[in-house]
Amino acid sequence: MDALRQDLTQFTKGITAIEAAYGADLKLVLTGGNVELNPTTPDYDKDQAELVIQLLRQGRKDIIYLTENPERTRQTLAKAQDALSEANTWVMVQLDLWDRLEKLYRLLFPDDARCIKGSDGCRPDAPVSCAVCEGKVRYDS
Ligand SMILES: [Zn+2]
Repeated sequence: MDALRQDLTQFTKGITAIEAAYGADLKLVLTGGNVELNPTTPDYDKDQAELVIQLLRQGRKDIIYLTENPERTRQTLAKAQDALSEANTWVMVQLDLWDRLEKLYRLLFPDDARCIKGSDGCRPDAPVSCAVCEGKVRYDS
């Protein structure tokens, strides 16, 4: 999974700042390694512009990386798409195997009517739940 090395979270601050700039009718202009803001309308929101300036300071390095070279940004998107595809495939395979193994566990050990996680139960945010938490296995003692 080499493509997973492309992690877009490293650009979160820059993406957030660029979005905020566009949302505030401000255009980013790169000049000699500096990032400047130009209003696209005379009615731009000056309070919002102050917030954008703060975000720009936090995301300056990302903004330069993402805006100065379109080809590099395109390649970043392409690598991230590959990473997402690989990760999605990995998740789908794991979900299938998890489901199959959990069913086998219930067949192999029919006397065990406990949740796989013990008394806490399966996590509510888990993408899969064991048969006990799904209500498919009942504890009868
Ligand atoms: Zn469970």
